[in-house]
Amino acid sequence: MKVVVAAFSHETNSFSPIPTTLDKFGVGKGPYFGAAARAAYEKTGMPMAAFIRLSEAAGHTVVTPVAARCSPSAPVDAAAYEAVCDAILAAVHEGCDAALLDLHGAMIAEQAEDGEGELLRRIRAAAPGLPIGVGLDFHTNLTGAMVDNATVAVGYRTYPHIDMYETGERAAKLLFDAMAGRIRPVMEWGNAPMLTATLKQDTNDEPMRTLEALSAAAEKEPGILAVTMFGGFPLADTRETGLSVLVIADGDRAAAAAVRDRLLAAAWERRAGLVYTGRPLVESVAEAKRLAEGPGSGPVLLIDHADNCNSGGTLDSTTVIAEAMRQGLTDVAVVPLCDPEAVERLRAAGLGAAVTLDIGGKVACPTLAEEPRPLRLTGTVGAFSDGLLTVTGPVFTGTQIGMGPSVRFDAAGISIVVTSRRIEPYDLGVFRALGIEPAEKRFLILKSRIQYKPTFVPIARGVVECDGVGVASSDYALFRFRRLRRPIYPIDPAATFAAAAQ
Ligand SMILES: [Zn+2]
Repeated sequence: MKVVVAAFSHETNSFSPIPTTLDKFGVGKGPYFGAAARAAYEKTGMPMAAFIRLSEAAGHTVVTPVAARCSPSAPVDAAAYEAVCDAILAAVHEGCDAALLDLHGAMIAEQAEDGEGELLRRIRAAAPGLPIGVGLDFHTNLTGAMVDNATVAVGYRTYPHIDMYETGERAAKLLFDAMAGRIRPVMEWGNAPMLTATLKQDTNDEPMRTLEALSAAAEKEPGILAVTMFGGFPLADTRETGLSVLVIADGDRAAAAAVRDRLLAAAWERRAGLVYTGRPLVESVAEAKRLAEGPGSGPVLLIDHADNCNSGGTLDSTTVIAEAMRQGLTDVAVVPLCDPEAVERLRAAGLGAAVTLDIGGKVACPTLAEEPRPLRLTGTVGAFSDGLLTVTGPVFTGTQIGMGPSVRFDAAGISIVVTSRRIEPYDLGVFRALGIEPAEKRFLILKSRIQYKPTFVPIARGVVECDGVGVASSDYALFRFRRLRRPIYPIDPAATFAAAAQ
């Protein structure tokens, strides 16, 4: 049998000013097509790798038309969306017996609010009886179109995401079992009116820890095949954005619906625990300073979460860096500040050159009231890198990171990794590529939200979340939602919810 295996993954931030054109996928040269798609992903920890391995272990032939992944940013450009969809649909049209798709679940395209739902709808229209298995991100904003046009779908259970491969395995096993007639999967889904804060979605912390444990326990009940609770991605402004549950049962819709309703009710009860309350940046930076003087070893991490790459940040916000400098923090390393113009200027100046320049704060963010604020710094050019590395840590294991040409700029007490592409620092390699040993610094400023944890927490003395300025902010009052269903908690504190079959 022939199985089409493909990946199309983009988490869309409706408020991000960063365009999502085709060239932004991959490591800056566009998606991988055909054999290159397989080569880029078969040895990784991603769902696509599990799809390839399990399909071939079952004796099937695998076709990989495309693997397209891109850091979060604005809605996917219309032509880019069509190019990736067309590649998948062409492979389906050529004839196949099944499709396994590694999707995100929070993609908006210029022509489709529900990017994944529209892709799946097109595949179903082209091949009505085709068994389709889908692996989804924990940040999926689930829709009826995704559920109705797939045979089985499951999502990550962890955030930070360290079960991507296992998610692919679960989806593939369910699909092959269904094709062999061993199970009769039926799916029920639903969402609660909860716009949860990604900063509070860590599945090692409450309340997500309990909610994920309840989901895993429900999966062991008789007749239940798979249960996923999705945290949702709040900055994708769509009707269905928010927390959701998807249950697959073996032929018994009522059993699936009962589990769904129980879990949605459990999430709703804990809604207050999924709201992030910020504090002034001045206080957070002062706390970082105190922690550095306290017990333990390794750096204190300052998490610049409002400019998180993997939520659509521009990666050129300077707010947290400026406050750290104002409070006199020294022995600081920053990853990354994306400023291609500065990279060019520093490369032209040459290694060891002393340079004064305006760095960062150049990308206008019309959805925020703030004006961009570049930072004027004087320093020396410390190191160069082509910015290409392979992830060795537990998040996105084995995938390539393309920082683009990058420079280490050493100013007073602070070393900044200036990149020409936007990447999230979830691997130690992003520092080491520029000659910085992160464990030896006193402070690290990371433009990340949660994904840094498996890699950086083990080497850190302490962690402080810093509320800078950026389009990945957890302060929903900054954004004007247009498509989101209302009322929704916590934007509408009086929102109510009663699960359908309680
Ligand atoms: Zn995610």
